[in-house]
Amino acid sequence: MYCNACGATVPDDSMQCPECGAPMRAQARPVSPPMKMKNYLVESIVVTICCCLPFGIAAIVFAAQVNGKLQAGDIAGAQDAANKAKMFCWIGFGIGLLVNLIVIIVQALAVMASSGAQM
Ligand SMILES: [Zn+2]
Repeated sequence: MYCNACGATVPDDSMQCPECGAPMRAQARPVSPPMKMKNYLVESIVVTICCCLPFGIAAIVFAAQVNGKLQAGDIAGAQDAANKAKMFCWIGFGIGLLVNLIVIIVQALAVMASSGAQM
């Protein structure tokens, strides 16, 4: 690695730059990765458009809160909002699927009934 202060090449395991004596913080300090959390915004929008509008909108509301809470440092709140968004996505998806299934069955029955009537 390289010294941040003077740019000299420093052995990876050294805690200090041999050239200028600057502490090698990159190695000593554990760098926490940037907090990334799935916010389910895409899923929420898909659910809203394709499946079930009320639950999709509820999911979008919670999904929109995730990033804001993350930026505010509210990890628990962000996780909570993400969980709620996920829950509403699945409820909306399930209901949407059920409604579509019922429509298909009703249409199939209607087709069968009309073809039966023609005979
Ligand atoms: Zn240095």
